[in-house]
Amino acid sequence: MHSSSSSSHPFYAYCREKLQEIEQQGRYRRFTPLSRQSEHYPVYDKNTKDPQKTTPVVVWSSNDYLGMGVEPEVMQAAIDAINHYGAGAGGTRNIAGTHPLHAALEAELADLHGKEAGLLFVSGYVSNQASLQTILTSMPGWITFSDQQNHASMIAGIKGARGSSCVIFKHNDLQDLEEKLASAPKDAPKLIAFESVYSMDGDIADIKAICALARKYQALTYLDEVHAVGLYGKQGGGVSERDQVAQEVDIIEGTLAKGFGVHGGYVTASRDIIEFLRLAASGFIFTTALPPSIAAAALASVRLVRRQNWRREKLFERVNCFRQKLRQAGIPFMQTESHIVPVMIGDAELCKEISRRLLEEYHLYATPINYPTVPRGTERLRLTPNPFHTDAMMDDMVHALKQLLPKQETAQIVAKAMA
Ligand SMILES: *Cc1c(COP(=O)(O)O)cnc(C)c1O
Repeated sequence: MHSSSSSSHPFYAYCREKLQEIEQQGRYRRFTPLSRQSEHYPVYDKNTKDPQKTTPVVVWSSNDYLGMGVEPEVMQAAIDAINHYGAGAGGTRNIAGTHPLHAALEAELADLHGKEAGLLFVSGYVSNQASLQTILTSMPGWITFSDQQNHASMIAGIKGARGSSCVIFKHNDLQDLEEKLASAPKDAPKLIAFESVYSMDGDIADIKAICALARKYQALTYLDEVHAVGLYGKQGGGVSERDQVAQEVDIIEGTLAKGFGVHGGYVTASRDIIEFLRLAASGFIFTTALPPSIAAAALASVRLVRRQNWRREKLFERVNCFRQKLRQAGIPFMQTESHIVPVMIGDAELCKEISRRLLEEYHLYATPINYPTVPRGTERLRLTPNPFHTDAMMDDMVHALKQLLPKQETAQIVAKAMA
């Protein structure tokens, strides 16, 4: 047998050493195999090597915020589409991969955001990376003003745009953004890239104010609404819909994989911008289209979410109920402006240990969020209650946290982190 570890290429040794280093720093990520029970969301089976041995676990870290991924109508749309059209798209959008469902979904998303057109990508990550890189390599001299906490997918697109430059502004800091816009060359094409809901701290950008600055300094606006679509606004058009500023944003990007519970990413904008991306973005052109089943399920989901406001109301009722229970139990958490409930731990090892014990002793799953996802010292459990978390499930989580959190220490850490 070929033994790869003995290969003399230096990359093998590099990997070996790097992995040891990551392990020593406590940053080695190990997957937890969990399979969702579609009829009992948020209950999953925790899988082991023995397929007969599974334990039910209540998951508190899913980004399927509304449970649309297990909505029977959504699942049925995928099943019907597979029966009619098969399992895969069979080609890129240009090469035999475009299905009427893709066009219908793009039109639905454009309408959701009040834009002329939309374009699907295979994921939200790719939609950001491909769109930003393509825009920023179009005209010469682009300058991007990028929020310090922007997602890795936006950073990938911005960094990948050779010839353009990037200025990072302090997170959600309008004054810093304005100073930086003002000191940039007047005639350079500018773009402001930011998010609405930031998923780790759960804070929300002032979209209206950022758009006002964009007008003042003639910058294009690119808004990632990934953690907001489906959840905010009368029809789930995100914070830009809630704040009635969607018209002022040039490009709105979203995912079909979080609030909409399925898969895929997209951008919506003016017809010309979308056509330009469709014709120029490598990450759109050279990859196989989303399977028709995914487009069908996503379309069913978006349509339901748009007209069923009770889903959003139920989500926030559950989030508020959970916060109330945490408060009553004296468990410190960050009171965010969004649906995200971070419980601060403040130490990487402790964070991992609490997560491990939650799973093993209490059958509750909450992902530990450690550096480099968040700054050192702000390690946390990121809890995302959804409409299917019952009062009893919440009580279980509150009880477990009460047992596992080292009380005083945590209070101090939280005070420090919030100061
Ligand atoms: C998850 C995420 C993405 C990527 O979306 P996917 O559809 O999961 O690829 C983009 N932006 C932000 C802010 C995200 O959190």
